[in-house]
Amino acid sequence: MIWKRCVSRGRMPGVQHSPHGLEYMTGKIMKGIAGFYYVHVEGRGIYECKAKGIFRKEGIKPLVGDDVELDVLDEAKMCGNIRSILQRKSALVRPAVANVDQALVLFAIVKPNPNFNLLDRFLIRMEQQKLPTIICFNKEDIASPEEKEALRRAYETCGYQVLFISVLENKGLDQVRELLAGKTTTLAGPSGVGKSSLINQLSPGTQMETGEISEKIKRGRHTTRHSEIIALRDSTYIMDTPGFTSLELPQITKEELGWYYPEFREHEPFCKFRGCAHISEPDCKVKAAVEEGKISRMRYENYMALYRELKENRRYL
Ligand code: ZN
Repeated sequence: MIWKRCVSRGRMPGVQHSPHGLEYMTGKIMKGIAGFYYVHVEGRGIYECKAKGIFRKEGIKPLVGDDVELDVLDEAKMCGNIRSILQRKSALVRPAVANVDQALVLFAIVKPNPNFNLLDRFLIRMEQQKLPTIICFNKEDIASPEEKEALRRAYETCGYQVLFISVLENKGLDQVRELLAGKTTTLAGPSGVGKSSLINQLSPGTQMETGEISEKIKRGRHTTRHSEIIALRDSTYIMDTPGFTSLELPQITKEELGWYYPEFREHEPFCKFRGCAHISEPDCKVKAAVEEGKISRMRYENYMALYRELKENRRYL
């Protein structure tokens, strides 16, 4: 009887069986709160899970973004136990999240005007974590061609993919969908640039799903900031991060700063001095590239500003 039931349910998406016939599934942790993990199983929904004690003994903490195997304890209530964490492809420290493939940073072209210092800090952070980054500028509908062109010149020369979209007018979103497909993407950007509207446009069903999670989470007492992944489609996930107004760059020295500027790389081997800071040294090829327009002057000026701040040994940039 039990065997029969397992066979019939085995045809449902996400369900697998161990050699002993026990039912388990694989899914992705969308959110962790107050000891509960919310695991999305494709084609089925979100299961409220606890992690078994074994993780604590081994000192492993499941992370948002982890792909896990879970045992279903109660199908009707959709709750279960996480039995194992599948091999992580990567783990970011801040925010603590596993298996992120890329970052998408969203700024507005105008209203508000981009804070380039902030954008560059973000890009440095992503370079530090070796995460490919797509730069997306919203509010294309109210920007001039000149404003767009200046942004494209500044950031495409650094090797970043630069997109111009209008969430309001639903322009450019197919390209965003294409770039996100099959991946887990962390979405970042200051507040007021249209992050939530972008998520809602990308997946109209998202609000309902996050609503479901929130219902379950009301039982938890913690309402502190947390990371959360949203399933846009099967195998396509996006992680919304809180809007930032400033970014700290921990563990970086002024000497290292230039490493995180991809557009410097082809020029700096030809600087006269090894370890050239590209500030006041003679025969600096990075500065020459700025003069020739191969490197964006704005990016370079931001580099100098960050360099000076690091020199003053301030903890926060
Ligand atoms: Zn130099």
